[in-house]
Amino acid sequence: MKLLLLLLAVFVLLWLLRASVRRHLPPRAKTAPPTAPRPMLTCLHCGLHLPGDEALPGRGGVFCDEAHRAAFEKAHPGS
Ligand SMILES: [Zn+2]
Repeated sequence: MKLLLLLLAVFVLLWLLRASVRRHLPPRAKTAPPTAPRPMLTCLHCGLHLPGDEALPGRGGVFCDEAHRAAFEKAHPGS
């Protein structure tokens, strides 16, 4: 009987220990791993931040679209 109680105590202790460890572990990530960050650039005309691969290169910098590039180059003809 004494042995049975001892086994039961050990079992309960291990169960509590396992529950405690699980509580302190960080939750598993459910989303896909993040991709590498893309460099952000700023439109010279309006200041909009956009990914580098979507930016439109122009005189003196990058722009968010063709209209802003044209407007900037019209306003700054010399640069
Ligand atoms: Zn813009």
